[in-house]
Amino acid sequence: MSKYVSDLMAMVKAKNPAEPEFHQAVQEVAESLLLVLDKHPEYRSAKILERIIEPERLIMFRVPWVDDRGEVQVNRGFRIEMNSAIGPYKGGLRFHPSVNLGILKFLAFEQVFKNSLTTLPMGGGKGGSDFDPKGKSDNEVMAFCQSFMCELFRHIGPDTDVPAGDIGVGGREIGYMFGMYRKLRNEFTGVLTGKGLNWGGSLIRPEATGYGAVYFAQEMLSTRNDSLKAKTCLVSGSGNVAQYTVEKLNHLGGKAVTLSDSNGFIHDPEGISPEKLAFVMDLKNVRRGRIKEYADKFKGAVYAAIDPKADHSPLWNIKAQCAFPSATQNEINAKDAQNLVQNGVFVVSEGANMPTVPEGVNIFVDKKILYGPGKAANAGGVSTSGLEMSQNSMRLAWSREEVDAKLHDIMKRIHKACVEASAAYGTAGNYVNGANIAGFLKVANAMMDQGIV
Ligand code: NDP
Repeated sequence: MSKYVSDLMAMVKAKNPAEPEFHQAVQEVAESLLLVLDKHPEYRSAKILERIIEPERLIMFRVPWVDDRGEVQVNRGFRIEMNSAIGPYKGGLRFHPSVNLGILKFLAFEQVFKNSLTTLPMGGGKGGSDFDPKGKSDNEVMAFCQSFMCELFRHIGPDTDVPAGDIGVGGREIGYMFGMYRKLRNEFTGVLTGKGLNWGGSLIRPEATGYGAVYFAQEMLSTRNDSLKAKTCLVSGSGNVAQYTVEKLNHLGGKAVTLSDSNGFIHDPEGISPEKLAFVMDLKNVRRGRIKEYADKFKGAVYAAIDPKADHSPLWNIKAQCAFPSATQNEINAKDAQNLVQNGVFVVSEGANMPTVPEGVNIFVDKKILYGPGKAANAGGVSTSGLEMSQNSMRLAWSREEVDAKLHDIMKRIHKACVEASAAYGTAGNYVNGANIAGFLKVANAMMDQGIV
């Protein structure tokens, strides 16, 4: 590690103790940016990276609510307003029991670079709560969302900070939060994205992250005159991103053979057809059941429970050509990365945020596989949120085809920006450096223009 990065990391760890995911995200970016900082000492003397690492504002608050048994529950709410140099803070809300300050800071930090890559004017933010929607009634979810918004509303706005969904936050939760915001502010504005279609939402927003990750894989493959046709694909997760990844793979002739949740995974060697995917969507989005039921329903598919003591995930040890990690951070460890490469995987397009540990990323980069890091590959979601904001501002709605075409075009442009930036700094084909550098430059230049604020 260079002296600059080790000094920077010592400072980050001292100032932000017990936040390992945040340290991990910062270190990866800092290592890529050395290439830029060596060429452009002006960014170093203006302490641009040091300033990006420090959130512009951190909001933490109590979220009290009453469950169906009449018992009072207390959760913790967060919003990290990380950087607004190129536009209003933008980024999702995550409701999951693992949520803490460090995880949200890593996500907000990544979001700054990702949003810059989209070419749309959006700053970076992230938020959420340690509330677990799993096993809660609709009434309890509504009570929680309303209480959460009773505090958050005073910090957000269509020109200030525009939250969206993430793990545990889908259309239902956005609806309850939007309802409370509208009541408190007495105004109907595009303050959240991922809204319902008949109250300001955009077509293709639910599909966008998964579709975008597949479009990104398609672009990477095209650099080797290859395509997704007849490729066997491993997909993890079974939520929003995983579902629409499978849908787009089916459109483009790929074959998705796995899905997972926090209890286990299914392997269906025949492929998850559109009919089987419809079953998964009903299971996960309506009945809110477990992925195990897939193997009960479809012969030929097998289910395996997750063994928390295992040193690798058997999902990543299946013969395939492509992988789309779409569940959560650090779900691919070094052994998993080794297994993937050994089993023939040469395309990894990350739907999830930071799903691969740094040692795993190094394996992908060293082996020169087509590795699209999350901040580039999953940027389709926030890009389409940006398109939802534009439609809200203009008070009009674009057709499905129009939004999908814009999404596809943005993913192509993000891919091109990564390819060009990695080549310009002497590491052609390295999408990690490409995404970090291209994302950084736009924000850094805006910060230089705007002075020390
Ligand atoms: P969902 O809540 O819809 O689905 C998450 C899926 O991942 C579920 O199957 C869930 O299983 C599984 N999962 C979550 N946490 C864990 C865990 N700790 N261990 C194992 N499995 C887990 O979320 P999304 O699909 O929206 O998000 C998935 C990933 O994509 C996240 O990393 C998110 O940050 C990223 N992302 C999402 C975007 C979006 O537009 N939604 C945009 C860009 C990135 P279970 O139901 O059992 O919890």
